[in-house]
Amino acid sequence: MKLDTVVGAAIMITLISSCNNNQDQKIQPDFLSANIDTSVKPGDDFFLYANGRWIKDNPIPPDESSWGIGQMVQEEIYKRLKTVNEKAIEENAVHGTISQKIADFWRSGMDTDAINKLQIQPLQNDLTEIKKINSVADIISITGSFHKKGIGALFGDYVAQDDKNSNVMAYHLSQGGLGMPNRDYYFNTDEKSVTVRNAYKKYLYKTFLELGNDSITAVKDEESVLALETKLAKASRKLAELRDPYRNYNKMNIAALYKLAANIDWNNYLQNIGIKKLDSVIVGQPEFYAELSNTLKTSGINDWKNYLQAHLIMSSASYLDSTTFDNLFEYRKTLSGASIPRPRWKRVLDVEENAMGEALGQLFVKEYFNEKAKQRYSDLVEAIREAYKDRIKALPWMSDSTKQKAIDKLNRVTKKVGYPDKWKDFSNMQIDHVPYIINIQHANEWKHNYNINKLGKPVDKTEWDMSPQTYNAYYNPSNNEIVLPAGIFAVPGIRDEDLDDAFVYGYAGASTIGHEITHGFDDQGRQYNAEGNLKGWWLPKDSIQFVQRAEKIIKEFNEFNPVDTLHVNGNATQGENIADLGGLILGIDAFKKTDSYKKNKKINGYTPLQRYFFGYAYGWLDQERKELLANQLKTDEHAPAKERVNGPVVNIPEFYEAFDIKPGDKMYRADSLRVSIW
Ligand SMILES: [Zn+2]
Repeated sequence: MKLDTVVGAAIMITLISSCNNNQDQKIQPDFLSANIDTSVKPGDDFFLYANGRWIKDNPIPPDESSWGIGQMVQEEIYKRLKTVNEKAIEENAVHGTISQKIADFWRSGMDTDAINKLQIQPLQNDLTEIKKINSVADIISITGSFHKKGIGALFGDYVAQDDKNSNVMAYHLSQGGLGMPNRDYYFNTDEKSVTVRNAYKKYLYKTFLELGNDSITAVKDEESVLALETKLAKASRKLAELRDPYRNYNKMNIAALYKLAANIDWNNYLQNIGIKKLDSVIVGQPEFYAELSNTLKTSGINDWKNYLQAHLIMSSASYLDSTTFDNLFEYRKTLSGASIPRPRWKRVLDVEENAMGEALGQLFVKEYFNEKAKQRYSDLVEAIREAYKDRIKALPWMSDSTKQKAIDKLNRVTKKVGYPDKWKDFSNMQIDHVPYIINIQHANEWKHNYNINKLGKPVDKTEWDMSPQTYNAYYNPSNNEIVLPAGIFAVPGIRDEDLDDAFVYGYAGASTIGHEITHGFDDQGRQYNAEGNLKGWWLPKDSIQFVQRAEKIIKEFNEFNPVDTLHVNGNATQGENIADLGGLILGIDAFKKTDSYKKNKKINGYTPLQRYFFGYAYGWLDQERKELLANQLKTDEHAPAKERVNGPVVNIPEFYEAFDIKPGDKMYRADSLRVSIW
């Protein structure tokens, strides 16, 4: 496998003495310079220049829809987690321990003989219940039992902090209930969307055949589900419309909720999902609930039965027999572009990660994230924070009073680095020698109860929403915190202490830490105050300045056209693009204070500033299939990897300096077009 060669080569990294040449330290082999495609000019396409050789040498495997740094790190994590599972089986620990749960989960997921033999039989009870439906109340009752087990239907609900009072956990209702990834797939007429829609129809048709219908009925059933979902899609907001935190915050008491969606017996539903007492609810998109309520009454009960059957099978198909799985995969292929499924063991690990990621994480960090690494990245957070403070103080467009509040908020950003100090308690999660899907449903039920139990209790601000082995990070506005799991700092095959500063400031400092901190001040984050509450703290004239500057980045990204006729959605991706640009400039400012920068010693012919930008580009070393790109452009608030590199760098003077970029180079952007926010 490709990855092994990369990892293998990198492990052999040796430092050759730099005594002979003080100006150019040699590292052989150097994973950064090895990725460079020297046939591309940095000023023509920096992403391809920095990453091009790696991309040429590492085509996307047929079972993957993208291939790059994320998968390289993930491959290593997969191998480690597989070992954790196999050890758990060997250990044969007593019932109730984490080790027993991991072993039984893994065993049930890998037992394809048992899974294939059962077919869709584990869903039989639910299917029987659906058959018995004869009222809207029955539909809602089944929806409740579905939601408890992690089966999606009708709408979405979850427990999270109240955006306007971060010390309180609130119950949220959001739009949902669609079978395709979002509303656009029901209406868009571009080629990729039409292909997905047709594949989805075919998938529904096959599902109804599998459920025992004849072909004529199956066509009718398929059409009824699509018609229902199209009504829900029409009432759903577009991706960019979901960005405004005020518009998507509609707090109301239960009486008002009944008024909004009268055909749903909310008290029954809430009881059913385990909520005994509730004064208020935060509705994200009220018009969706009005339409859902209306559709519940006006569409035939039979259509809803079809809908619930289809969603039961769709939500469960990945954990069932090969026929059921293959049907779904045929459709999902049009979204991902991968021609064959990933190996089973990886898919089971993904599901296990979702079910009990923190249980796995306890075993993971013991082996793979030491105190020294934790210290390095904690220090880096502080360096970035200092750089941001200096930036804010020097901003020409912001008033002193808003600056003071911004600095206060920045000072109070909590950092969580590596792994949680306190682990979640999994003792009540029931995992046994039962069919795979039952273990999954039990894990989902545990998670459901865990979240519902938070209502009415003080907010636990020590909690993590990602496991330590996750290759990702987040900013949570309600806690005004950045959360940086150990996995995000990993470089495949290289020990942390062997990574040079220039690289680390670009890779971890800019693309992760600076990025996440800037989220606290992007188009959404800036609307939350230092206490994590959705409450204005900007003078209106400063807000106007910010919005004008953000307009420029929206315009810049709208122009990118990564696939077919499809463009980046500059509006929906503005928060991420602002964070990328912010991360890059903060990383540079912090890096300029280091000895590595000041000594300006080259490594393998590249200056520290150049290696800084390579480090950033390495963070987005990725290639994607066209199907996935097309899906991402409609559903993801992140621009594609290439644009995340080429988009922000052209706004930064140091980039022009580092690679001697001049007017006439393709990436050159006139001063007047450059975006400057922070
Ligand atoms: Zn982000």
